[in-house]
Amino acid sequence: EKYVEILSIPFIDSTMDEFINQMIYPRLMNQEKTFVVTANPEIVEYANEHQDYKDIITSADYITPDGVGIIMASKWLNQPLQERITGFDLMNELFRIADEQALKVYLLGAEEAVIETAAVKVQEKYPGIELVGYNHGYIDIKDECLAKSIAELEPDIILTALGFPRQEKWVSMHYPLFKKGFFMGVGGSFDVLAG
Ligand code: UDP
Repeated sequence: EKYVEILSIPFIDSTMDEFINQMIYPRLMNQEKTFVVTANPEIVEYANEHQDYKDIITSADYITPDGVGIIMASKWLNQPLQERITGFDLMNELFRIADEQALKVYLLGAEEAVIETAAVKVQEKYPGIELVGYNHGYIDIKDECLAKSIAELEPDIILTALGFPRQEKWVSMHYPLFKKGFFMGVGGSFDVLAG
């Protein structure tokens, strides 16, 4: 696995195809706990101003370049990253795999009406997914009760759309409660799904 460091954040240098087939798919199949951050320039900038957030980001198994700004920065450094790997695209790849493999998915975030619609649309488009639950994102991220109730559902994939930095903080705070699971913050993706 190759990485390119931008402002001391190591980005995975891979195509989406390789990333999915060689890194993500095997981890899902082995039920290996995984945390992925799709980092855009805003996240990189924020991480550089907040060490606690930077520590969370760099604790992830993979940090992918989300946004042309990251690709441009890698070119200026003469270490061009191969491809953007965005949260939205990755989410859709995860849904595709979950559909095929009948994986358990939990969706956390966005406004109540948005997450309800998003959940219906996901289930319509991917009937093979076992959607074990969802919750809106206007929560206290420290809430252990909610996190425990999600962990008890034993989801294979947990997507958080709480906006950054809250979505990554939620993952980092509650990660130890889970025995397995693929965790990723997806920003405004549920809003896009809900249309
Ligand atoms: N969101 C949420 N809880 C919050 C703040 C935001 O669930 O306390 C949701 C919001 O409804 C949206 C998503 O997080 O669906 C992304 O929000 P935003 O676009 O502000 O995030 P960013 O693009 O900054 O990550």
